[in-house]
Amino acid sequence: MQFPKEIQNLNELLNNLPGVGPKLSSRLAIYLAVNGKSLSVRLSQSLKDAVENIKTCELCANVTNNTLCSICEDAERDRSVILVVEDALDLINIESSGEYKGLYHVLNGLISPMNGIGPSDIRIQELLSRLSEKVEEVILALNPNIEGDATGLFIKQRVEDANLSTKITRLAKGIPSGGDIEFASNQTIVDSMRARVGI
Ligand SMILES: [Zn+2]
Repeated sequence: MQFPKEIQNLNELLNNLPGVGPKLSSRLAIYLAVNGKSLSVRLSQSLKDAVENIKTCELCANVTNNTLCSICEDAERDRSVILVVEDALDLINIESSGEYKGLYHVLNGLISPMNGIGPSDIRIQELLSRLSEKVEEVILALNPNIEGDATGLFIKQRVEDANLSTKITRLAKGIPSGGDIEFASNQTIVDSMRARVGI
């Protein structure tokens, strides 16, 4: 049997979401179409609001509904340290550990020659332009895989080439090799932050 085309369309759209496979997308499509009348209305309004109002912070590229995100605007944050992450999900997970009080920089990806992603495709230049004598340390919180390591080394070289005295450190290997910062527990993040090492 084939689902009505309205459910098929919804199913196909939901299937594009990260982490949603065909089984879950069918289940969600049927639920929303059959049981979720009020939820569907609120969901479509909320989606519209998010798409219209959410943008990325002009300084760090965190998600925000303003020019600058709440972290960059917070005068209490330590401006002498910038923690570099692959994406905003990693930022949110590190932030929820409560351990870190400095600023962030979201790269929006990692260097990956296999996938045709080079240094100029991610926000490395924007990071370098934020560095000055006032920034004493850059902490690389990149996933421990080939792309994360390559990106970290590239950033370190560029900082050295620019003759900046900024110290470069990375999280200790508390994050399991090949693991994902996005899913690391708060305690793992706290431990790997406290035991961070120079590179
Ligand atoms: Zn920001």
